[in-house]
Amino acid sequence: SHIKEVQFVKSSSRPRDCPKDGKPEFAVLGRSNVGKSSLINLLVRKKEFALTSKKPGKTQLINHFLVNKSWYIVDLPGYGFANAPDSARTDWSSFTKGYFLNRETLVAVLLLVDSSIPRQKIDLDCANWLGRNNIPMTFVFTKCDKVKGGKGKRPDENIKDFQEFIRENYHEPPPWIMTSSTTSLGRDELLLHMSQLRNY
Ligand code: GDP
Repeated sequence: SHIKEVQFVKSSSRPRDCPKDGKPEFAVLGRSNVGKSSLINLLVRKKEFALTSKKPGKTQLINHFLVNKSWYIVDLPGYGFANAPDSARTDWSSFTKGYFLNRETLVAVLLLVDSSIPRQKIDLDCANWLGRNNIPMTFVFTKCDKVKGGKGKRPDENIKDFQEFIRENYHEPPPWIMTSSTTSLGRDELLLHMSQLRNY
């Protein structure tokens, strides 16, 4: 499950422009500010992959990174921009949903959840939408190093709340991994998990 080599391949503005070489891929998804860029940089250990336009209103792109010439990490636009106009939100959903519903090489979505804040409806909505559409996902909790989270709860308490909700709603709850880009917690576990899903 080692990463020896990572190449940026392309940014696509439409799902149909994504690479067509049939290699398996993992999409990384989450609320804006969830720690997505930090997590991708942690996985690939390359700071220079300063990932694309995070600001609302800018072109939303699907970015493909080829790992070990054999599989992709896909950086998707974040959702739930605090200050975005409604039109930006609508764009996000139709654009990203189109990608999920048509991408046959998608192995799983890594759905990032910020463990430093209370559970967010938008994350639950996203998980429910993926679940309804039978798209495999793994919850990746970010910022697990934080001593205290929002509203005074610790990351493990926020994670517990989130998991409770998930257990109530799923027959088979998706796997989950705790990570921190600050301490590298979960890096090896996540890479191993992805290699197991690829070989499944
Ligand atoms: P993105 O908008 O989802 O790409 O999020 P970023 O990776 O830019 O991170 C958003 C903010 O959270 C930044 O201020 C990061 O420094 C912080 N952050 C990201 N990951 C971690 C983490 O593992 N631990 C802590 N304590 N802060 C983090």
